Amino acid sequence: MTRRLSLFGATGSVGQSTLDLVRRDGAAWQVGVLTANSDVAELARLAREFQPELAVIADESRYDELKAALADTNIGVAAGAKALTEAATYPADLVLAAIVGTAGLAPTMAALEAGRDVALANKESLVSAGELMIAAARKSGATILPVDSEHNAIFQCLSGGRIDQVRRIILTASGGPFRTMRAEDMARVTPAEAVAHPNWSMGAKISVDSATMMNKGLELIEAHHLFPVGLDRIEILVHPQSVIHSLVEFVDCSTLAQLGSPDMRIPIASALAWPQRMATPCAPLDLASIARLDFEAPDEARFPATALCRAAIAEGGARPAQLNAANEVAVAAFLAGRLSFPAIVDTVARVLDADAPAAPASLQDIFSVDAASRAAAQRLVDQYEHA
Ligand code: NAD
Ligand code: MG
Repeated sequence: MTRRLSLFGATGSVGQSTLDLVRRDGAAWQVGVLTANSDVAELARLAREFQPELAVIADESRYDELKAALADTNIGVAAGAKALTEAATYPADLVLAAIVGTAGLAPTMAALEAGRDVALANKESLVSAGELMIAAARKSGATILPVDSEHNAIFQCLSGGRIDQVRRIILTASGGPFRTMRAEDMARVTPAEAVAHPNWSMGAKISVDSATMMNKGLELIEAHHLFPVGLDRIEILVHPQSVIHSLVEFVDCSTLAQLGSPDMRIPIASALAWPQRMATPCAPLDLASIARLDFEAPDEARFPATALCRAAIAEGGARPAQLNAANEVAVAAFLAGRLSFPAIVDTVARVLDADAPAAPASLQDIFSVDAASRAAAQRLVDQYEHA
């Protein structure tokens, strides 16, 4: 039986890994929607290959270009944020949410409200609007299948026990490229060094988040929404080899872990095939050649981002949305060479110094907090630049 897949963020790292799996198992899938931000050429190429019903380019000014590129096909073409959100409600057995940042929030929410099962890579949407997303899924009956490798690992481990039998969730972290770097050397880190992750090949934003360990903090918030065991029961453990993707300890002190090569196609395949399993071309684990697995406690003095995230979600309300938006601006400024590496987390911390925004009751409230936080972070970036 073929299943219908809508893929948001088709041109990105997770999008391409997803399409690699779909390509190998073509008979199992019918692609309904493909989207990209601005890369018309790549979106058109993918659309010709996978023949979706609809191709959506988020950048509205590129509509004519995409229309022309697909003029000799039957593929529908749309552009802009509204079209992106509408496309999320197209018929689909699974919506894979792989847009980066809060740009993915509106379509992901629309998919959940329409009762579509969502394979979620776009962690920023859950960080910003976790309560609203979980409530929408509950109301419509949609299932959220985590694609983030740690959360996918926890999801798999939880088939070995119930959530109320969990004693602890242990989120593993590689520690990123600067795990052993002295704090004083971090001021000289370049964007190229920060995006060179030791184990995973990923998009630029998440690679920088991994280097600051903001990624693990965002994942802590993500885990809190997906697996409500209580924040004090979710711990972070640095594991430089990225072989164990996370662990769940149950009340009897039995601990289950999920292991695999650091290849995103493994958690993506798990979400695509759930509750079944599908074959992948990934390298099986060769533990004898890996030989050893190391673990260490995170160093919150050198990497303060995880503590900021824990405080933000403990406070709740719109704090995580505020944090996430400030981080997106700071990471973009760092990548553009406008901010030093330590100033990324510093900027986020300073935005969070402001009074807490009112608790959000709607997606619109989240977008207001997001916009205000972006503006505040941008002002700080400008100050740093002129300092
Ligand atoms: P990426 O930068 O490689 O790709 C991002 C995708 O989103 C692209 O298709 C891009 O066109 C689209 N996009 C960007 N801005 C957009 C906008 N404003 N509007 C519409 N579309 C837009 O990112 P990625 O590494 O594939 O990550 C995607 C998401 O998955 C992120 O939330 C990331 O945290 C999460 N994730 C990624 C990995 C990984 O290995 N790459 C692992 C776990 C989680
Ligand atoms: Mg992850």
